[in-house]
Amino acid sequence: MADDRHGIDDIDGETLDAVAEAIRTAETGVALTGAGVSTASGIPSFRGDDGIWERHDPADFHRRRLDADPAGFWADRLSLREAIYGDVDPEPNAAHAALARLESSGHLDAVLTQNIDGLHDDAGTDRVIELHGTHRRVVCDDCGHRRDAEAVFEQVAADGDPPPRCDCGGVYRPDVVLFGEPMPDVAMNEAQRLARDSDVFLAVGSSLSVQPASLLPKIAAEGDSTLVVVNYEETPRDASAAHVHRADVTQVLPAIVERL
Ligand code: ZN
Repeated sequence: MADDRHGIDDIDGETLDAVAEAIRTAETGVALTGAGVSTASGIPSFRGDDGIWERHDPADFHRRRLDADPAGFWADRLSLREAIYGDVDPEPNAAHAALARLESSGHLDAVLTQNIDGLHDDAGTDRVIELHGTHRRVVCDDCGHRRDAEAVFEQVAADGDPPPRCDCGGVYRPDVVLFGEPMPDVAMNEAQRLARDSDVFLAVGSSLSVQPASLLPKIAAEGDSTLVVVNYEETPRDASAAHVHRADVTQVLPAIVERL
């Protein structure tokens, strides 16, 4: 197992060759991406010492809060959105682009992501399974109608008090998994099936410490998939990985693509 840290120059080219070979010979390739892929685009992470949840109270975004105080929930949601995305429009980085290239060249079947920022879409990846939903849409809590989030946030910013409502009268909510809610079954089942069927599984920029991210690479490895972990920090799945790269995701992924 390679246990390399930091710069791409420190990574043994042979281990990158081995990863490229595993991808080349795989019938089914799957990637799972976490916060480390988004932070490279300037999006702050939610967890950790400097994370969003150190400055915002997760309880404000709990399912119970939405039910009890939808207007307050939306006001806080607007502040949260400004804290995360600010005035800049984040753009896909080299890791997003490398994964899109792996897909378009037939080496990757799907990207499973914990991220809600939509940047895999922007990079051109077709099959993205958003395990935690997307901040780019809202969904009516009553009838399930979905619409673009942008106009809804603008309305909340302009109106202040009333929560945004659907034509049916139901309250809109962000199309993301809130605290206190289970993962969506359809996305989770598909992700688990892909992990089980995979011959190579790339776990990229995720600490693999919270569900479902911790589960998916485990399923893959148990099914004899070649597990590749690319993350700065140690993960609980390193021991079952064939290759571990503790390096920048925006360097490692393009280096792998170059070798294909
Ligand atoms: Zn509705």
